[in-house]
Amino acid sequence: MSHYDVIIIGTGAGGGTLLSALAPTGKSILVLERGDFVKRELENWSSKAVNVDGRYQAKEQWSDGDGKPLHPHTNYYVGGNTKFYGAALFRLRREDFGEVRHHGGVSPAWPVSYEDMEPWYLAAERLYSVHGTRGEDPTDPPSSGPYPAAAVSHEPRIQHLAEDFQQNGLRPFHVPLGIMLREDAPGRSKCIRCGSCDGFPCLVQAKADSHVVCVEPALERPNVTLRTNAKVRRLLTDASGRRVTRVVLEPNNGGPPEEISGDVVVVACGAINSAALLLRSANEKHPNGLGNSSDVVGRHYMGHVNSVLLAVSKCPNPTIFQKTLGVNDFYFASKEWDYPMGHISFVGKLDGVALSAGAPALAPGFTLDLMAKHSLDFWLTSEDLPDPENRVRVDRDGNVVLQYRPNNEEAHRRLRATLQKYMNRQRRCAMHGDSCHVGLFARSLYIGERIPLAGVAHQNGTVRFGRDPKSSALDVNCRMHEVDNLYVVDGSFFPSSAAVNPALTIMANALRVGSHLKERLA
Ligand SMILES: Cc1cc2nc3c(=O)[nH]c(=O)nc-3n(C[C@H](O)[C@H](O)[C@H](O)COP(=O)(O)OP(=O)(O)OC[C@H]3O[C@@H](n4cnc5c(N)ncnc54)[C@H](O)[C@@H]3O)c2cc1C
Ligand code: SF4
Repeated sequence: MSHYDVIIIGTGAGGGTLLSALAPTGKSILVLERGDFVKRELENWSSKAVNVDGRYQAKEQWSDGDGKPLHPHTNYYVGGNTKFYGAALFRLRREDFGEVRHHGGVSPAWPVSYEDMEPWYLAAERLYSVHGTRGEDPTDPPSSGPYPAAAVSHEPRIQHLAEDFQQNGLRPFHVPLGIMLREDAPGRSKCIRCGSCDGFPCLVQAKADSHVVCVEPALERPNVTLRTNAKVRRLLTDASGRRVTRVVLEPNNGGPPEEISGDVVVVACGAINSAALLLRSANEKHPNGLGNSSDVVGRHYMGHVNSVLLAVSKCPNPTIFQKTLGVNDFYFASKEWDYPMGHISFVGKLDGVALSAGAPALAPGFTLDLMAKHSLDFWLTSEDLPDPENRVRVDRDGNVVLQYRPNNEEAHRRLRATLQKYMNRQRRCAMHGDSCHVGLFARSLYIGERIPLAGVAHQNGTVRFGRDPKSSALDVNCRMHEVDNLYVVDGSFFPSSAAVNPALTIMANALRVGSHLKERLA
């Protein structure tokens, strides 16, 4: 049986980032990834291939709490979901680390403070080349250093919207983005600022994803081995149950299961698959699932209350790269409401092909294609609260069962209504005069659709960390309370979901845990 100092399972925001922290130690590291490399091909940037054919989507069936089949919108590749993400890389707000009172209940405090995480946020922003402007966002937490690169500029339609929001008293800001764009030197820029970023793999490898930024550089070191198409099925422990002794993997080529051992084992399969792996690894000492005498493993699943809203107008929206603007004026209690509503930003510019998958109702007089050419495509996120009944389980065959009942929905309804109110207050359209103004704003039309359960992009919370082993499965270093050499380093550890995108927090935490592991391995 082969043996390594460290085995990391999964190469996404958590696993990939941890690898980049540990690779320079010279320790022998085996990385197991169930997927393959994303093939570089023209389809990387094809809306039909990505949005309609689901070319890169996991070909796996889960079921929901009622036993109905569920086809998760998730991706199994080297780099995990960061290969497909929109690279909006936010820190949680400082207040998110404390208890926050919501209309739907209380969002619990974290066992570490914002100040504990701050240096790791800064390091993660540097690693992932985040472009942004500090302090522009009124909810920005304090930072010990600037962003590594200047904010990505707005295209004219988005700049126009930013000015309109400002005139109406809002404080829109440039979304922090992990793309390798050089607006000052376009000839030398890896990123070409295309319209196929959010949801697509980057054909020119200019998105700061964990494959490009972490895994590829680590593979240049002789101490790092990556095995792709290697799905981990179970973890086995010694007789005491205190140590993981073997990692059991199933090669995708149908070969026989293999066992490998490591001094330290890190699970980084994403919040749903990590919980499923621990539950599948139940044994005599851990009858409820590995490290789960607290019964929290798989529980408190969160994924945000998300929706995409199309603000359709008579005036076209020619923006190519749309994801540059955010509004956090309603993130906390505000003059609009006594409770937090959430975060407003954009998805990548939608086209008619993308809209045809899960098509909204047609705006009067519009085709899908025309609607897409005339829409501003907002992304709205409200916090969902950790409910123990929202959970990941595994069925008899070890397949994922995801049970979820939405909560804190009033916050999201109010956020949508508030956006609508501010959109209705836009100034006259400079390009088309008064008649356009009527079409653009007074006749603006919003088509809202809550992201369904299969939309697991922001999954988190299923193996929460904490100081009390009765209410958490991981300690503050993300080591399992009950298993000395087992860590979980992905979106699972969140005790609450906040309302900004999760990836930067997963990356920063991976660097923090990496520092702890370096000491342990020294
Ligand atoms: C379309 C899309 C857009 C997004 N946009 C943003 C954004 O703009 N900003 C943001 O912050 N977040 C965004 N996200 C979310 C972000 O990508 C995730 O939060 C992040 O990647 C989660 O990191 P992770 O390490 O928890 O899991 P993942 O990145 O999912 O990595 C898990 C890895 O484990 C592997 N794996 C799973 N099970 C096993 C197993 N049993 N054995 C071996 N390997 C296994 C998977 O193949 C995968 O590589 C987006 C997600 C999607 C899908
Ligand atoms: S070229 Fe730039 S905008 Fe296009 S996918 Fe790559 S990183 Fe994103």
